[in-house]
Amino acid sequence: MTVKIDTERVFNLIEEKRPSRIVINAPGGLLLQTMDLMKAVERKYGVQCVLVGDSCFGICDTVDNEVEKLGATMALHIGHNATVQTVGDYTYLVDAKDDVKFETVVQRSIPMLSKYKRIGLATFSQHLDELEPVKRQLEGAGFEVYLGRKNSLLLASQTFGCDFSTVFENTEKVDAFCYLGQSEFHAVGVALATGKPTFLLDPYMEEMRDMRAEAEERQKRAILAVYKALDARVFGVVTGLKEGQIMTARSKWITGRLEANGKKVVQLAIRDITPDRLAQYTHVEAFVQTACPRISIDGYTFKKPVLSIPQADALVGLLEGREIKDFLHRPKWIELVVGQIPRAQVVVSR
Ligand code: SF4
Repeated sequence: MTVKIDTERVFNLIEEKRPSRIVINAPGGLLLQTMDLMKAVERKYGVQCVLVGDSCFGICDTVDNEVEKLGATMALHIGHNATVQTVGDYTYLVDAKDDVKFETVVQRSIPMLSKYKRIGLATFSQHLDELEPVKRQLEGAGFEVYLGRKNSLLLASQTFGCDFSTVFENTEKVDAFCYLGQSEFHAVGVALATGKPTFLLDPYMEEMRDMRAEAEERQKRAILAVYKALDARVFGVVTGLKEGQIMTARSKWITGRLEANGKKVVQLAIRDITPDRLAQYTHVEAFVQTACPRISIDGYTFKKPVLSIPQADALVGLLEGREIKDFLHRPKWIELVVGQIPRAQVVVSR
């Protein structure tokens, strides 16, 4: 039961591209394995690796822009895979897979799932290989099982914390979703985006957890923040500076709508949008941030409303006399730009 980085891919890339120096980043949970990988690369190829220590939560947190600044010729982004294999000019995505099996937790969950006939499966990068075995096991127990279709960014049934487009398509076909893994964060996202009962199948605790109460709680908070922002006179519209989250067009559109509705707007750009960073803008009464939507939907520590893109859309609707609808029910909460950046022809030499 360990998460293993795809070292073979890294070695093959180094042999093919012959980088002079490598920039690496990885999510917090994979830092030890990543540092082992760096040592292995340095030992085997004599190539220096630099680990970027800024926060790394998702596939949007690539560090392509740091490569030239750090005198490197390649970047490796560990632990978040997708349909695309490369990002920007220098970055290669490298898988990290968890070899934990789901057989026991699925077996234990079957009696509790029995009132649902049609089950949709979803998971995140590390457990994608387990989708087919779980599907077969559930089908063997009499369920109809649906996987989400691969698309231009996500692999089959894969979700990110802000993009549920693969499984969203199955919303009407299924009675409930099962999310493979230990990540309540991802499972709650599916529950909120689809509005369907969603259960986390945790292979480590060997238990099934119902995500409905958590999803409902977050939804209530998200709605409350929209209504609180309604009376604000001065807004901060924050564009995120992380590579995969830069939504300048959305920031401009939202600014335009707020101003058209009599609000004053100050435009900000921030890499890590935290309560501390926002606290210094004392004259701002509410924020809209067009970066990671989960900062708003899961971030309970902000003192003022901090709206994500779907919440901002709902706010604009209210200001313009439309009803607030199920604004979180959508396939994506943000249009990540990962993989949309054209890759330049880079000649890398040692
Ligand atoms: S923007 Fe999406 S992929 Fe990036 S950290 Fe947030 S939820 Fe994850």
